[in-house]
Amino acid sequence: MLIELDPPIQKFRREVIETFEQLRRPEWLSLDPESPEYLAHGKAMDRALIERGWYALHWPKEYGGGGTPDTFLRHAVLRELEGYFRVPSFGGHGRYIVGPALVEFGTPEQKERYLPKIARGETVICLGFTEPDAGSDLAAMNLRAERQGQDYIANGSKLYITYGHYATHMFLAARTQPGSTRHNGVSLFLVDMKSPGIRVSHLPCLTGHMVTEVHFDNVRIPGDTLLGEPNRGFYHMTTALNFERSGLDWPAEYMGQLEDVAQYARDNGLWERSAIREAVGRLAASLEAWRMICWRVVMLQSKGEVPSWEASMAQLFRKDFNPQFGRLLLEVLGPQALVERGESRSPLAGRVEWYLRESFNNHGQGGRFVTRNVIARRGLDMPKS
Ligand SMILES: Cc1cc2nc3c(=O)[nH]c(=O)nc-3n(C[C@H](O)[C@H](O)[C@H](O)COP(=O)(O)OP(=O)(O)OC[C@H]3O[C@@H](n4cnc5c(N)ncnc54)[C@H](O)[C@@H]3O)c2cc1C
Repeated sequence: MLIELDPPIQKFRREVIETFEQLRRPEWLSLDPESPEYLAHGKAMDRALIERGWYALHWPKEYGGGGTPDTFLRHAVLRELEGYFRVPSFGGHGRYIVGPALVEFGTPEQKERYLPKIARGETVICLGFTEPDAGSDLAAMNLRAERQGQDYIANGSKLYITYGHYATHMFLAARTQPGSTRHNGVSLFLVDMKSPGIRVSHLPCLTGHMVTEVHFDNVRIPGDTLLGEPNRGFYHMTTALNFERSGLDWPAEYMGQLEDVAQYARDNGLWERSAIREAVGRLAASLEAWRMICWRVVMLQSKGEVPSWEASMAQLFRKDFNPQFGRLLLEVLGPQALVERGESRSPLAGRVEWYLRESFNNHGQGGRFVTRNVIARRGLDMPKS
């Protein structure tokens, strides 16, 4: 299936490709993703996107967005190409989740305070949802923020927090109404990570990425940082997460990687083996199917609809694809696939060994069974398993 983009969007796509071809650096693919050098490349690329007005393209015009009716599709095209070129970013969840959430339910004062700094890449936001006893079942969250005058006092901890080691703010979900039902009594805050009483512990992942545990010990949170309606945070949280649901960058990133592996096989006399060509072809076909599901999510979003199980299907593809890709790398390269980054015989500058470790990363945004259950219940109307 081909996606037909209107001529102005095709023109924009060519402009983005030319830009990334000019700006790309081999180090994007060889550096450790947590190294200061890689993060510096991420900052430089965030700046490059900001200068071109692309960083917050999907936001309303008054907050730095594109403001044309086709902005949403332009943004999707940009996001896909960022994945394909594996453009580094300093990151943070401001661009995709918290910025659009602020536009949707922030007060005018909060919009003015936070949005320009997010759009300039100065405010870096981590998401504080998961807890030691609340992962797939987020409604079991326990971190409490008790009202004290105008402010709240928070106690508890959040687990597996990406960007927690350098974020300036946390988009925190906390229980603010003891005794309420599981999905009620939760509020959302934008917490300054420098607040006294916050302590961050580092948890290095198998993939080399860093996640963190963030502990709150009597942290005072100003009342004017509460986002949306008090005690309705669980519902706002779901809306906020829907903003980043397409995940178009993922299949594109894998396509870039698969093309590199195929080229490596050609350059090293491995392409003659039909099993390898067949495995590459099979994975390329699944990537295309995954991509179409992501585009379906984009199309729903562009019509103002909220994707639900469609977005879970896109996530499930990632979770299923990851280990298949790891297997292909082992089939193509054999034991050489295990040679780490930095070693002279390491294929594709160590990315292969890294992707093998990455193939275990199937938990983020909920485990596979939870994702399958969402599709079964919401998409296929099946009973709860
Ligand atoms: C790399 C990484 C980055 C992350 N970044 C963030 C972040 O920035 N912010 C944040 O808030 N969280 C983050 N998370 C947390 C992530 O959202 C959780 O890991 C995820 O929600 C799963 O929760 P859990 O790890 O507690 O697993 P559990 O909920 O304990 O699940 C373990 C296994 O049991 C299965 N399972 C659980 N319940 C059911 C059920 N009812 N039916 C069937 N099977 C079930 C799951 O599918 C899974 O396979 C991150 C996680 C990872 C791995």
